[in-house]
Amino acid sequence: MGYISRGKNNIVSHYNAKKRIYTRRKLARQQHLAIVDDDTTKGIASYKSIAAGGNTKWKGITLTEPAQNSWFDDEGYPKTSRDPITGRFVNPWSSEKSNGENGLVNFLRWKFGGLFRTLDAVGIVDGDAHDKNNPADIQKINRNAAVAAAPFLEADNSIHRTIEDTTNSIADDNNESEKIDLTWIGHSTTLISFPGNFTVLTDPHFSKYAGPVRRNEPPSFGVDDLPNVVDCVLISHDHMDHLDYWSICELIDKSKVKFWVAPLGIKSWLMDKAGVPPEHIIELEWWEAVRLSKDSLSSSPEIEGLVRAFDKSSERASDELHRNISEKNSLMITCAPAQHWCSRTPFDRNRRLWCSYAVHATPASSENTGFPPHTHSFYFAGDTGLPPEFPLHHMVGDRLGPFDLAAIPIGAYEPNWFMRESHCNPAEAVKIHQAVRAKRSVAVHFDTFDLADEPREEPPKLLLDEVDRVNKEILNMAVEVVAVADEVGISAELEAVESGLASDVIVRSAEDSHATTEKLVKLLPPLVDFAVIKQGQSISSAATRIEQP
Ligand SMILES: [Zn+2]
Repeated sequence: MGYISRGKNNIVSHYNAKKRIYTRRKLARQQHLAIVDDDTTKGIASYKSIAAGGNTKWKGITLTEPAQNSWFDDEGYPKTSRDPITGRFVNPWSSEKSNGENGLVNFLRWKFGGLFRTLDAVGIVDGDAHDKNNPADIQKINRNAAVAAAPFLEADNSIHRTIEDTTNSIADDNNESEKIDLTWIGHSTTLISFPGNFTVLTDPHFSKYAGPVRRNEPPSFGVDDLPNVVDCVLISHDHMDHLDYWSICELIDKSKVKFWVAPLGIKSWLMDKAGVPPEHIIELEWWEAVRLSKDSLSSSPEIEGLVRAFDKSSERASDELHRNISEKNSLMITCAPAQHWCSRTPFDRNRRLWCSYAVHATPASSENTGFPPHTHSFYFAGDTGLPPEFPLHHMVGDRLGPFDLAAIPIGAYEPNWFMRESHCNPAEAVKIHQAVRAKRSVAVHFDTFDLADEPREEPPKLLLDEVDRVNKEILNMAVEVVAVADEVGISAELEAVESGLASDVIVRSAEDSHATTEKLVKLLPPLVDFAVIKQGQSISSAATRIEQP
């Protein structure tokens, strides 16, 4: 009699007694890892792995960089942490590379050839030697600097439509949208509308330059095209291409934003530099969440509460957050980790935190009491590298996923030796899509600014190739699983007939085999849905979640 077992390392074994064939197939399967112990003197942390489905298996992985126990919670998830010597924020799983000391030398190494070209762009040098005492030269320097700093205040006039036309997403009280709509304005700037009539803007950048880098083309929409009041802006980190002074000033001047959500350290910059009123800023650390709610679809949101959702010792428990949740339209924004860094000047490296965001919209009509509320969910990956060993994005998916829609960066990855710590490449973006359990993702952070060495058109091409490759692999796995299960079914039937068993036993064994096949196919990862759209285009979440009765 044949049998199938799923043993160690997700090997599917099948022994066909009739044919005396033993087949083994490896199934890719997500594993969740959690810290259990560490030894700071050796800089090694060991982890236990918890297989999906609650079967705990113990397994060790080693952090190759110094780690402190306090940087991880009891379950092994990374907490907002600072390097004890520099006092700067770190990626706890990659502490040396993010302790705030490294970076400049590598940057110069990468940019050595292009350094003067870069300085030229901001008007510091222009090929000719400047005479600092010559008024004409000084004027030239000032003028170049002014041109470099001048923001794009005009949107591309060739686009004669508003974002409302594009997304058709701003629901009125009678017609509540049942999906998430995202418009890619450019780079990491997206406008998203959620059921419950919430609008969210990510990393707003409408300017001509990001630091010294000139925008390839004007943004597809300007500040004037945005809905009258965007409920919430999400800032992922303090880099010139994500936290843009001019764009924030314009948004403030035109009273376009209700709340600004940012990771630790950015609140004071928003207040002091950009003049954002403090009561409109919500500063979060990793795994902390804020809940905004509206009495009606047309009203303005209010802050209902902050929560340390995953901190078991916290008094701000998630239960409290979800009290009366079904009575109002709510939007839960959870700050989540990312592997990145930040700097605005040479002296403030990693003084401000970086993050990704999970956003969960819960319309008033739906019953939803868990945390996070899995009604309509969106993930903004911010800027992030994919840690090769540490299961960072699995952890995000584990706690906050799955997501109906995700915006994941795919550009600025060459040269790999320099960029891989801070930016994922297209293949890694697909891994992040799978790890956070996004049902559909959309590519951002490419095409707008040439931040790295790869050609502008390369990231989407590599992404689509990778999606194709991964999906073929998943389909092949499915074919193999079905073939193995079929073999089992047939041999079971043959044996039953040969040993003279009653026909109902045969039927039952065929049913068992069918059920086994289904079970195995369910273990396979879903096909990857990762879209590439043009700047100015919109996309919706894959499917409306059907509420359980
Ligand atoms: Zn960045």
